[in-house]
Amino acid sequence: MTQAQREKLKQKLLALHAELTGKTPARIEPNRTDDARVGGDEDEQPLNEMMQAIASNRNRNMDGVLQRVLKALGKLRDDPDSYGECEECGDEIPLGRMEAMPYVEFCVNCQGQKDAPKGGPTRRKLTDYT
Ligand SMILES: [Zn+2]
Repeated sequence: MTQAQREKLKQKLLALHAELTGKTPARIEPNRTDDARVGGDEDEQPLNEMMQAIASNRNRNMDGVLQRVLKALGKLRDDPDSYGECEECGDEIPLGRMEAMPYVEFCVNCQGQKDAPKGGPTRRKLTDYT
């Protein structure tokens, strides 16, 4: 990865970081108490609760990404050469993948293995033998 490419990805990470820490957690306004709306509050209650649930769900996912963004930024600062390398096998992660997810830690192969359901050392399913 060239310096320029790294810099570009760093900018993306910083933008992501700003987005994750600034705009989110997605705040759902508490039930409005101002006078703008009179009545109808009771109707909105269930919807609000649902929105809260959705928001907290989204925040959880965002937290995971934020952690990885921070990690990637730390890597860029402390050990820039290792940024863009798969943490599992050390291969260079294709730039397209880095651009899509500048915080990605693994190459496609290793990510696939990690995402695969855990089981025995072989990935062949028992049903393959029946
Ligand atoms: Zn790998």
